[in-house]
Amino acid sequence: ASFNQMDLKEDLLRGIYHYGFEKPSAIQQRAVMPIIQGRDVIAQAQSGTGKTSMIALTVCQIVDTSSREVQALILSPTRELASQTEKVILAIGDYMNIQAHSCIGGKSLGEDIRKLEHGVHVVSGTPGRVCDMIKRRTLRTRAIKLLVLDESDEMLSRGFKDQIYDVYRYLPPELQVVLISATLPNEILEITGKFMTDPVRILV
Ligand code: AMP
Repeated sequence: ASFNQMDLKEDLLRGIYHYGFEKPSAIQQRAVMPIIQGRDVIAQAQSGTGKTSMIALTVCQIVDTSSREVQALILSPTRELASQTEKVILAIGDYMNIQAHSCIGGKSLGEDIRKLEHGVHVVSGTPGRVCDMIKRRTLRTRAIKLLVLDESDEMLSRGFKDQIYDVYRYLPPELQVVLISATLPNEILEITGKFMTDPVRILV
């Protein structure tokens, strides 16, 4: 399979090739189509498998850049991963003028607010900061249609369970959820049971 066969937006495809990718990795081959088709997906995958780029390219495909509202939210366990995901989205989505922003602790909240007011399609953040911004109503959730929980087992072991559930409560009911985790302990299965409908399961 190739990226050409994935029915991606022309400008996104250009971005992917320009970024230097020639063909999809295993997780990209298996997860991209179901996500684009709107399915909930549980992907059991480690870092290094191409999961960050998989998130980036599906988010780019799903977002409507003619709207200025946040439509996709990605939660990550660390500030570094949240920033890295933002960077890959901006790089791959460069030709389609996607606006992404990372909302992470340790950065100025004022800057986050200014950026969001300017119009952002995708937010990549850590659960604490994102939860805080949603509660302050500086991050509007009404147009969010996709939630990605990256490195979910790591988020739980860092104590973010309550924040993840809190964030979820503020999101619209018609929500698509993608969960990525290296392991699937009971607490993760609890989340998949509560947040997801008839998920596709992928093991890479
Ligand atoms: P990730 O697991 O997304 O952090 O990706 C691990 C590394 O593989 C990163 O350096 C990516 O840039 C690279 N990578 C991801 N997908 C592809 C692909 N389809 N072709 C070539 N390299 C890739």
